[in-house]
Amino acid sequence: MCIDIPASAPGSTRRGFLTGLGVTAAAGATYLAARPASAAASPTMSQGRSRTRIVPLGTAGGPIYQGSGRNGTSTAVVVGERVYIVDLGLGSLQQLAASGLAASPTLPSSLAHVSGVFFTHLHSDHTADWPAMFATSPSNINGRTGPAIRVYGPGSRGSLPRVYPPSRPEPAVISPEDPAPGITAMTGYLTKAFAQDLNDRIRDNNAPSPGSLFELHDIDISTIWAVDPDGVPPRTDPFLIWEDGDVKITATLVDHRPTAPAFAYRFDTPDGSIVVSGDTTVSENLIALAEDADYLVHEVIDAAWVDEIAASVPEPIREALRQHLISSHTTIEQVGKDVGERAGAKNLVLTHLAPSDNPDGRWMRARRGYSGKVIVARELVEIPVSKRRS
Ligand SMILES: [Zn+2]
Ligand SMILES: [Zn+2]
Repeated sequence: MCIDIPASAPGSTRRGFLTGLGVTAAAGATYLAARPASAAASPTMSQGRSRTRIVPLGTAGGPIYQGSGRNGTSTAVVVGERVYIVDLGLGSLQQLAASGLAASPTLPSSLAHVSGVFFTHLHSDHTADWPAMFATSPSNINGRTGPAIRVYGPGSRGSLPRVYPPSRPEPAVISPEDPAPGITAMTGYLTKAFAQDLNDRIRDNNAPSPGSLFELHDIDISTIWAVDPDGVPPRTDPFLIWEDGDVKITATLVDHRPTAPAFAYRFDTPDGSIVVSGDTTVSENLIALAEDADYLVHEVIDAAWVDEIAASVPEPIREALRQHLISSHTTIEQVGKDVGERAGAKNLVLTHLAPSDNPDGRWMRARRGYSGKVIVARELVEIPVSKRRS
């Protein structure tokens, strides 16, 4: 469907989170800083730069605000004039505006080039800026004439995870009539929550309804798994999500117990393949999805930091908490040797860094046992994608 919004509608803010701009990234490779928002983006957004590229918008893992200068996790995959965004952690919407990647050349739009948004799972450190994108979209989509932005993510789930630790009394369930809404249901609740603002703008400003700007898709895995948040996702072949011209997007189930379903996405482009892991422990499905990928963008957690956190809690739950964190994420020691190497991925981009204030040197230990190149993601520092090693 076409979307044509008057130029007089209010535009996006231009707060500058220019973390990492112009920095030469780790491992000796030189990357280009994303174009600042003040510069025209289209039709020149690809001029002088790689047609296909990865742009980390946010690189911090977890919902804890650490003041590290890193934003909540979000990764943009840019193919020509199209921008695909995986997850929208806290601050990532401002990062998108600061990057200028999705902006219109003549109108104050921050979403002109966004083709799709892909949620790996519904933890708040991956979705916190979705309410912001959705609610402000009527004012930030000026000039967009393309189809609605496709949004993919988990569907609603009927079951809840076990109470942890098991000795604890059963807590009250939040929203018992719908305790685990998926991306479509969640967005329905957002529409109600923002109804006053949306109705006022629709009636007074002739603004479009955000419902017409986004096309929501619950990923249907009913033939693969009756989702059990405490269960191990079954082995599965990658499945097709969307074929957008010359970009093919596939996904798989990863293991982020007790949050389920959790997805990883693969983008096969004319210039190479990019896989984004989302949150997962070492996952055979992910390794299959990332087979021979040119770039594997993968989460990572520092086990030593987990030990520090565990030491701060009472003895009875200390070891259980440690295991709980380690078993739902991938450690520095695992991500290169047990994931990147086994997948045959040529480049490994580390993101969703937990903690977000580790020095790069700690993350670069992922090189042990991995024959490809390790890159520690820096926000708004573009990683050009080509079929050769960077
Ligand atoms: Zn996370
Ligand atoms: Zn998570």
